[in-house]
Amino acid sequence: MRSREELVKVLGAPLGDLATDEALFAGAAEVRDRTVGRRVYLRGLIELSNRCRKNCLYCGIRSGNGRAERYELTDGEVLEAARGAWRAGYGSVVIQAGERTDGAFVERVERLVEEIGRMSEGKLGITLSLGEQTAEVYRRWYRAGAHRYLLRIEASSPVLYGRLHPADHRYERRVACLEALRETGYQVGTGVMIGLPFQRVEDLADDLLFFRRMDIDMCGMGPYIEHPQTPLAGVRSEFTREERLQLALRMIALLRLEMPDINIAATTALHALHPRGRELGVAAGANILMPNVTPEVVRGNYRLYEGKPAEDTDLSGFRTVPDGAWGDAPHYASRREAAKSEE
Ligand code: SF4
Repeated sequence: MRSREELVKVLGAPLGDLATDEALFAGAAEVRDRTVGRRVYLRGLIELSNRCRKNCLYCGIRSGNGRAERYELTDGEVLEAARGAWRAGYGSVVIQAGERTDGAFVERVERLVEEIGRMSEGKLGITLSLGEQTAEVYRRWYRAGAHRYLLRIEASSPVLYGRLHPADHRYERRVACLEALRETGYQVGTGVMIGLPFQRVEDLADDLLFFRRMDIDMCGMGPYIEHPQTPLAGVRSEFTREERLQLALRMIALLRLEMPDINIAATTALHALHPRGRELGVAAGANILMPNVTPEVVRGNYRLYEGKPAEDTDLSGFRTVPDGAWGDAPHYASRREAAKSEE
């Protein structure tokens, strides 16, 4: 395990030429191949709705953005998207939406999870990414059949988090949600943005230490990309977009070296900054891709940042095997085993 100083040294090395990181990326890919295997697993991403009660300062679908065109998929559209992913051989779907906590939403998600389970006879894995909820809601959705949950911390430094969010968005609450998810039994994923305004390489090193401390099972990290209809758009980042891409790849590689047996996604934001962004993510140690299976008619409206690609990458160049395998992180099984033997 690397110390904070060692992480800062790698992250803080001069940026500008991806070739200088070749050995780092190759080393991480080799560790990935040895621990989680040479396969890249697919999760079909279903963007249920872009309605959100939160107002994060960097996000294009924040509640305060009156210019965002809001949509909500019907139950039929969600099930059709899940069925399509299932037929295409995907092992899992991810249901993602802006944050809502009202009873109707909670019940709807519960029903959808149950119906996807019935439709696939329990064979299609279900990941949720639906923000902060009470422990009881997390339990309800888990009992309905969801088994993974993504809740990105976005910035693990409480100070930086405070600069990126309105005062009523509490850092402590987000961490408590991650803990509640873990206690419920989910495979827990989190992640950060890379190259944010006010962010330094020391913060990124601390993000890696945070992931280790939280003992996460999955991670999705991507370069920060401004959305013009947000308060943060006018605030300059210390890093150019090219530098953010390179830093994101360094983060993926370092995380793979630090936590070899977790699942790490090559995110859409990498693709938004580079035509081969996701391929580069896999070459740096990632093993998960989340192709968008949301109906195309609304796909363009889930815009967290500017230039988010509405079209998917051609996946033919990847070592994907669409055979319905869930592709759980071995880390989850070993931490559950360890917890059992401690009881
Ligand atoms: S980042 Fe998530 S919680 Fe924040 S405004 Fe956007 S969708 Fe809502």
